[in-house]
Amino acid sequence: MKKEASYYKKLVDNSVQCLLCPHLCIIKDKGSGICLIRKNIDGTLYQTAYGEVVSVNLDPIEKKPLYHFYPGSEILSIGTNGCNLRCSFCQNYSISTKETNRQKVKIDDLVMLAKKHNSIGIAYTYNEPTIWYEFVRDTAKIFKENGLKNVIVSNGNINKEPLLELIKYIDAANIDLKGFTKEFYDWVKGDLETVKHTIKTLFDNNIHTEVTFLLVPNKNDDIDDFKLMLDFLKNISVDLPLHISRYFSTYKCSEPATDIGMMLKFYELAKEYLNYVYLGNVNIEGALDTFCPDCGSILVKRAGYLTEILNYGDKCNKCLKKLYFQF
Ligand code: SF4
Repeated sequence: MKKEASYYKKLVDNSVQCLLCPHLCIIKDKGSGICLIRKNIDGTLYQTAYGEVVSVNLDPIEKKPLYHFYPGSEILSIGTNGCNLRCSFCQNYSISTKETNRQKVKIDDLVMLAKKHNSIGIAYTYNEPTIWYEFVRDTAKIFKENGLKNVIVSNGNINKEPLLELIKYIDAANIDLKGFTKEFYDWVKGDLETVKHTIKTLFDNNIHTEVTFLLVPNKNDDIDDFKLMLDFLKNISVDLPLHISRYFSTYKCSEPATDIGMMLKFYELAKEYLNYVYLGNVNIEGALDTFCPDCGSILVKRAGYLTEILNYGDKCNKCLKKLYFQF
C-alpha cells in the first residue's frame, strides 16, 4: 500500500528529494530511493510498503538483542523490504536488497496479536525500520496508546528531525554501530556521524539503548579504532550495553568467520570501558550473562534465548548499585 512520504521536497520536472536519511536521494519520476521502498510517482514521494510485512514473529526480546529491557519477555516482531545501507555481510539480504511478496496487515490487528500472545509490544526489525518511517511511526503511536512498548532495531542512519519525531513513541532501541571509521561507513554506504548522533540522542532522551557491533575480520578489527568506539560509548554512558557479535561469511562478504580469540580480546578490552558487555553468535560460558558492575554478583544468566533472572529491579540486591535495567 502506498502512503505519501514524510520528509521530502518537490523539485522541478516532477523530481523529489527525500530528506529522511543522509543519502538525501534525488529521485526522478517513476524512480526509487536507495532504500527501494520510497518511490516517486508523478512527482509525489510515497512510502510503498505501508502496512505490508514480509515477516511477523513472536521473538524473545534477547533476540533483538536487548538484554536489559524486560529480560525474558517476548515481543511481536515485524519487518518489510529494503535498506538504506549496502553491507556486503548483510544477514537479511534476501529481504533487504530486493522486493519480495508482502502480506498486508492492519495496525489494530497487530495490537490484537500482541495482546493475545502477551507480547510486551512490538519490535520493528529484520530490515531497516527507519525507511519504513510512516508505518512505524503510525503503528508506534497506536501501540503506545494501548500501553504497549515500541522497539526499533536499526542502523541509526536517519536524519535529526525525523529521528526526534519518531522517538516520541519509542521505548527501546538496539543500534548497529558497524565500525568506527569514515572509510568503513563509506564502504557500507552509511554515515558514521549520523549513527553516532542517533545513539547519543536516543540515550539522552531516556530511550533504553543498547548497541551491537559485528566484528568482521580485516574490515573493522583495528584495535585502535575499537578503542575510539569504546571511548565514544563510554562518554555517553558506561551503562550502555554493548553486544559484540561474531561474523560468519554471508552474502557478498567472503572473509572467514571471526576468530574466537579475537572475539575474546575485544570482549576483555570493552569490559575495561563499559559496565555491560556481551558476546553474540558464540557459545562461551559467562559471555551472555550480566554481572553487577560493582560487586560482581550474577544478575541474569543466559543460555541461548533462555533467561534466568536472579536479580529483579534496577538495584543490585547485594550492594545496592543502581543498574541499567527495565523490568
Ligand atoms: S530514506 Fe531512502 S529514499 Fe530517503 S534518502 Fe534515505 S535511501 Fe534515499
